[in-house]
Parts: sequence; C-alpha cells; structure tokens
Amino acid sequence: MTGSSRGLTRRAALRHCRTALETADPGDAAGDARFLLLGVLGLENRDLLVEGDRPLDDGEAVALDAALARRLAGEPVARILGAWEFWGLPIRLAPETLVPRPDTEILVEAALASVSDRSAPLRCLDLGTGSGCILAALLSELPRAYGIGLDRSAAALAMARHNLAANGFGGRSAFAVGDWCDAMRGTADQTFDLVVSNPPYIVRDVIPTLHREVRMHDPLAALDGGADGLDAYRRILDGVRTGNLLAHAGVLAVEIGYDQAASVRSLAAAAGFVDRGLTRDLAGHDRVLSFGLPKGHGDPHLRIDRH
Ligand code: GLN
Repeated sequence: MTGSSRGLTRRAALRHCRTALETADPGDAAGDARFLLLGVLGLENRDLLVEGDRPLDDGEAVALDAALARRLAGEPVARILGAWEFWGLPIRLAPETLVPRPDTEILVEAALASVSDRSAPLRCLDLGTGSGCILAALLSELPRAYGIGLDRSAAALAMARHNLAANGFGGRSAFAVGDWCDAMRGTADQTFDLVVSNPPYIVRDVIPTLHREVRMHDPLAALDGGADGLDAYRRILDGVRTGNLLAHAGVLAVEIGYDQAASVRSLAAAAGFVDRGLTRDLAGHDRVLSFGLPKGHGDPHLRIDRH
C-alpha cells in the first residue's frame, strides 16, 4: 500500500508517485509519475516549476491517489487519463480505441512523404480510424485536405469525431460506421489521394503472449488480425482495389507488424498494387508499406472494359 497524497505539495506529490511506481516497476516510473500528476491535475510542466510548492486540495489528492492505484494495478497511464498525445496533438481515448503508438507516426510520415504538394486539396481515407489520430495528424500537415474515417465501432467514431473537432479539423472531416471499405460501396467515382490504415495485425494465437498492458487494456478488435494476422490486409487490399478507392496517382500506406512485409507485399501484388516502398521505425523494424496503382491505371483509353 502507498500513503495518500493528501496535504502534499505538487512537487512532493510527484516524488510520492515516482517512489510508489519505482517500487512496483522501475520501467518508466519517472515519466509515468509526471504524466499521471499533470494529467490528473490538468497542469503543464510549467505549473510544476513555477507553483510546485502549492499543496494539492482534497479533491486533487483523492483523484491522484485513485489514478496511482490504477497505475499500480497495471493500467497504462493513457487509459487512466483517457487521453494521449499523437503527432503533438491531444487525442482522447475510448475503451474501443487503441492508445496511439509512437510507431504509428511512421505511417503518417510515410503518407506525407508521398505527397508532392502539401497545399493541394487532397482527399484522405483512414480505414479503422479508431481515435482518429492518424487522420488528425494528416490534416494538421495538409491544410487544404479533407478526410474520411471509417470504423466498425460507433463508439470509436464518436471519439474520432471529437478529436478532429477539438484539434480544429471538424470542418474537413467526416466519419462513417463501416467494415473496412464496405461503407464506400455505391459512392461511385469517389477516389482518394491517400488511403491509410493501422489495422489489427496481431496473429490471434500470439495475443495471449502480448505485454499485459496491451493484452488487458487495448481493445481486442483493434489487435486481432485473425489466424495469420493478415485478415485485415486482405479486406483492405481487396476493398480499395475493387472499390476503385485509390486515385490513379494515390498512395495506400498501411502499418504492418515487424515480420509481415513479405506477406503483405505478396497479397498487395496479387491484388494488383504496385510496391511503393517500405519504411522502418526508429528501432529499425519494418513498419509501413506503401502501394500505388500500376501506371496507366485510370487512363481512360487504357481501361479494359468489363464483359
Ligand atoms: N503495434 C501494436 C502492438 O503491438 C499492434 C497494433 C495493431 O494491431 N495495429 O500492440
């Protein structure tokens, strides 16, 4: 058991949290303690520096003790706060959304790297948008772009809608409930310059071996990639291709697991996509694959009529 933070100053409360967390799991106790304190009290780093001697009021102490107890029981800080940061943007979370990973910023970077004119009115589609963090990041860098986010979960979409609006992109985004590309059926001739996705890609049998914080606190539906981890890629590649969702010079960029590049590349080739490269994450792991359409696709005179 840890003591209460009642009556402590902000600075002492930070120390109290850090000590308690270090005893339980020295991993990132200092960072966790800081994020927890700042998040629960609604403070910024500056408030700790300038007003570190200010005592917590009773309500703050109760809230901090409750949050600390949850962290000590193994819940990630982002879940306790219901909020995290992605691409420098504040993102709120629901139980139905993944905690945004720093690795997923590589997906945003890869998608942006494929854009030749960032001020163009690009059309973006985010499949399995979750909290909407990827779409928010893209729209923050593409001032005239608009984006559509699809997700199976209505609760996730409500959070995505909130996050886009809270970051100032509400007027450039729209959301629809749908299973992968299905919601786009019947929207004839709607194509996208960027199609992005961080789909569930964990092999089902591997899920029980994942780190406890992921296994217990991230939504299973956002992790489970089926028996071989590739179910979502099959759906996405097929849906984007048969639905003609990619503009002829557009790019489809997907996050992948570290050992999935070869499999996803061969699925993409079989679905008729052209390889546009692999991007690794900061740890050197394969992380993002980009695909385009074959040259000539979309040229009316080259289009083969269906019989
Ligand atoms: N990278 C995530 C993890 O390892 C997996 C997220 C996903 O399946 N898209 O927890």
